[in-house]
Formats: sequence, structure tokens, C-alpha cells
Amino acid sequence: MAIALLSEEIINQIAAGEVIERPASVVKELVENSLDAGARRVQITVEGGGTALVRVTDDGEGIPPDEVELAFARHATSKLHGIGDLLALRTLGFRGEALPSIAAVARVTLITRQAAEPLGREVQVVGGTIVRSEECGAPPGTTVEVRDLFFNTPARRKFLKSEAAEAARIAALVTGLALTRPEVSFMLTSEGRTLLQTPGQGALGATLAALLGEGSTRRLLPVSAEREGLRVAGLIGTADLTRANRSWELFAVNGRLIENRTLQVAVEKAYGSLLPLHRYPVVHLRLEVDPAAV
Ligand code: ADP
Ligand code: MG
Repeated sequence: MAIALLSEEIINQIAAGEVIERPASVVKELVENSLDAGARRVQITVEGGGTALVRVTDDGEGIPPDEVELAFARHATSKLHGIGDLLALRTLGFRGEALPSIAAVARVTLITRQAAEPLGREVQVVGGTIVRSEECGAPPGTTVEVRDLFFNTPARRKFLKSEAAEAARIAALVTGLALTRPEVSFMLTSEGRTLLQTPGQGALGATLAALLGEGSTRRLLPVSAEREGLRVAGLIGTADLTRANRSWELFAVNGRLIENRTLQVAVEKAYGSLLPLHRYPVVHLRLEVDPAAV
């Protein structure tokens, strides 16, 4: 093939593929944006395992009306202005890639209003193109609605698992996020059914009870340890509180949820023969690493 420059559309779709692999990636990016905006309530609605619809509504600070369209531009962020900010970052996002990536492969509507503004703004983006942008009435906060994920990238769609499996991934993800932020009230609804809801009062115990059911909290033991620049704290389930998969092996590093096979295997090894065959523990560990010490 002859050398040729890729079109803007193809470049955006390829870049989007690196950020948005599946519906759970959309939920992760949108909820992280809500948390970065200081939300105390985050409501997530999905349909079709997130392929037909992902809607995230928050009561965060909202976006200034004249910046809403810019939020969909690649590398547009309010969280980082110079390289010096990089080390002081406290937000979950900063690359300015999530909204443009989602909008490149779906039909997106964003409605936002800042509390001090009389009116909100609604912007609609289809496959990366802004098709509508107008003033509207709206409660303070932001709602992002993502429909028909991968409608223009059918090859990506084929990689997805069943709707039930994608919904389960979303539930596991939101569970983890809810645990890292017990002061925020989360609600997840799938196909009109409420899958989880947390009180958002700041207590990890009450958050766990809401997620796992009352009886399970007695079977969770607090753990904590500290050594040079590393603090670990969290809850470890007793060997009779197990799951059929690893979705409840949850680790957060400096407030950020991570998936790490080494940590998972290390924890499973620690249970040794206590763990029944093909069963996985319920573990939530928060690691605080002092960047200066590593
Ligand atoms: P990043 O989070 O890396 O900055 P995003 O593409 O996720 O990039 O978002 C772009 C910008 O849009 C953010 O920096 C923020 O200013 C704004 N934004 C996105 N979602 C929200 C939200 N829910 N509430 C307030 N502002 C938001
Ligand atoms: Mg973001």
C-alpha cells in the first residue's frame, strides 16, 4: 500500500479505541469526571449492558457554558495547565481524552449547569461531530448520556461479551469506585433494576453493608500495616465469604482503583488452603504510596 495520511475521523477512532474498550470504560471515565467535579451523588443508568445506553448524572460543579464544546476537543482539560502541575495532581483524569474518545464512537448528549449560572447548556455530539449546542434549563451538575456505543466501529462491537457480562463488569467497577469513595452516594440501575446503592455518609462499613448485604459485614476483618513509604488498610473477607470470580478482589493505590494480577495472586496465596477450589475472596485493600519514598 502507498503511504497516505489517515483521515481525522480514522485517527480519532483509533485513539478512542485505546481509551474506550467496552461499556465499562465509558462508565469509568464518566464517573471519574463526576468525582473530579466534586460530586456527592452519582447516578448511573445502563441499558443493554451499556451498549444501548450509559447515563451518568452528578451534582458536581458543572462546566462553564462557554467551555462545554471545548470539553469534547482532544487534549482539552481543566485539570492540568503546565507540566509543573503534573506532580501535584489530585484528580483522576488530566489527559483530556475521555469525552472526545467516547464521542468519537457513540452518540453523546451532555447537559450541564454551574450553580451560579441561570441556564445550563446542552451539547450533542455524534461520531465526534458537534450536531447541536444550545442553552437549556437544568439542575446544577452534569448529565452525560452515551447511546449506541461503537455504532460506527462495528469491529469493536464484535469484541464485546454478552449484555449480561458487560453489565456485570460495570457493576464490579462501580462497586470498586463506591468503596474508594464512601463519602459519595452511588446508584447503579440496569434495565430499570437498581443493582447497587450506597449511602454516601463516609463510613466504609455502611458502604460495604449496602454493597454486600448486612450479614457479610461480620465476615470482613479490618487489616492495616505500614512500612517505609507504604501504608495498607482495608478489609479482608473470611474464607467463608467467597465469590465465583475475582470481581470482589479490589485494590486502590492512592485513591485510584487498579487491576493487578500480582496483587490478586498474592492475596489468594495468603489464604492458602482455606480458600475453596475455584472460589475467590472478598478483599478491599487501599494502598497509600508516598511518591517521595519510591
Ligand atoms: P480529563 O478528565 O482528563 O480532564 P475529559 O475528556 O474526561 O478529560 O473531560 C474534559 C473536561 O471536561 C474536564 O477536564 C472537565 O473540565 C470537564 N468535565 C467533564 N466531565 C465533567 C463533569 N461531570 N463535571 C464537570 N466537568 C466535567
Ligand atoms: Mg476525565
